[in-house]
Amino acid sequence: MKVIDPHIHMVSRTTDDYLALAINGIHTITEPAFWAGFDRRGVDGFHDYFHHLTVTEPARAARFNIKHYCWIGLNSKEAENQKLAGEVLRIIPEYLDRPTVLGLGEIGLNKNSRNEINVLEMQLEIAAKRNELVLIHTPHLEDKLKGTRIIMDMVLNEKRIKPSRVLIDHAEEHTIGEIKEKGFWFGLTLYPNSKGSPERAVDAVEAYGSDNICINSSADWSVSDPLATVKCANEMRRRGHPEALIQKVFYENPKAFLSQCPKFKAG
Ligand SMILES: [Zn+2]
Repeated sequence: MKVIDPHIHMVSRTTDDYLALAINGIHTITEPAFWAGFDRRGVDGFHDYFHHLTVTEPARAARFNIKHYCWIGLNSKEAENQKLAGEVLRIIPEYLDRPTVLGLGEIGLNKNSRNEINVLEMQLEIAAKRNELVLIHTPHLEDKLKGTRIIMDMVLNEKRIKPSRVLIDHAEEHTIGEIKEKGFWFGLTLYPNSKGSPERAVDAVEAYGSDNICINSSADWSVSDPLATVKCANEMRRRGHPEALIQKVFYENPKAFLSQCPKFKAG
């Protein structure tokens, strides 16, 4: 089967992981810019990171016959330093122009603070002006519903951005309904210890249908699993879902969302 993982942080993963992706049919991946596990000290750290995402990682992936795309943005965890955030926002457009960059991401909210909202607003302005796709990170646990609603209101108030060009990631049972109803795409994240299990994700497909859904591993530097997507596909198969539906969820859906950026070609 063919799989696209639309959210995976390969800068944190090994070549063994690339090989595992390749032999399991995951030949196209997209990597959002995110938090390194520590706050970067200056804008140079972001230059280096964006170079890594747009030059080093696509070359590393190509050795395994994997197409690597990325998203550029300032994550919400580093929005509190407003001076640095302003400097980072000024360098973002030059990276958005690069050939494997699909849009702004992952941008969004973490604690729903005023500073985070400011930075999100400025990044949505960049996306609107340039007609870029947007990949949204939503807060965890008790902040999730409130943060998801703030983000959706901000996007819907920006008339130049169509909800069909925005994927709201890390959705959960209590946010999926509202996200879908408003015309956005949504992402479900599979984590071994937190966020969704394969079983919960398949339950969501059964409850909410297979439209507008993308399932991802979000594999990164913490406990996570780059093969989570194929394990989830296997759970669908175990429950008797037809191959065509599995292919829709894990390949055709992400392809349809991502292909709205003309730079994207699915492998
Ligand atoms: Zn992420």
